[in-house]
Amino acid sequence: MVHFVGAGPGAEDLITVRGLKLLGQADIIIYAGSLVNPALLEHAKEGCRIYNSAYMTLQEVTAVMEEAEGEGLTTVRLHTGDSSIYGAVREQMDELDRKKIAYDVCPGVSSFCGAAASLRAEYTLPEVSQTIIITRAEGRTPVPERESLKALAAHQSTMILFLSSGLARKVKADLLEGGLSPETPVAVVYKATWPEEKIVRTTLDELPETMEKEQIRKTALIIVGRILEGEYAKSKLYDPAFTTEYRKGTKQ
Ligand code: SAH
Repeated sequence: MVHFVGAGPGAEDLITVRGLKLLGQADIIIYAGSLVNPALLEHAKEGCRIYNSAYMTLQEVTAVMEEAEGEGLTTVRLHTGDSSIYGAVREQMDELDRKKIAYDVCPGVSSFCGAAASLRAEYTLPEVSQTIIITRAEGRTPVPERESLKALAAHQSTMILFLSSGLARKVKADLLEGGLSPETPVAVVYKATWPEEKIVRTTLDELPETMEKEQIRKTALIIVGRILEGEYAKSKLYDPAFTTEYRKGTKQ
């Protein structure tokens, strides 16, 4: 059996209780070495075989899983954050389906949630934005044309850019072209929840210079949108006048 486990954003105690339990039971752990906190590997049991997938191809990863399965062993494939977001997990699951190897998925705290906590931000503020766009700038991996940053900017929603910290100039140019104002607030969160975490607040206009000055080139999220500044409306849920399923409001 293979368990895909989300390791969380970085801090070693932000893995789920279930994830930690699976980690401690694994005979084999294949972890995403570029981003998973190595401290998590200290929870591996005695004799557990550990592989760093940063040095492996998809074929090599699935070959390890297949061999383990043949020996009746349990494998944990440890992904950073949550495996559903830029985790290249579907191709592994499809391989396992082809090989008739059973697997399940244990969710994790994605780095964008870790970044919200670090920023003390709410991504969905009433009358500012009720939508989060999770995306990336086009680099070596193509992005479908209809999802270009320019096209997505039109929504003026909260945007969270993964895998884009080396592309700040392009991010700025495309979002401006898509209609965002140069004054749009931006936060860059480097290594959210890790001890070396760094938060930088800037504007779209100053994003490239700020990232250069701070020397942030990888393992960062770029968060764009008006939720990062002051103005918003209060929620209806806790409005004294508003009636909900659980509470009668003062206004009929
Ligand atoms: N599955 C992961 C994302 C993997 S893609 C998740 O759910 O978070 C790798 C990208 O995620 C990095 O380039 C960076 O943009 C972002 N990332 C991962 N961990 C991060 C962290 N702790 N702080 C900021 N960004 C992070």
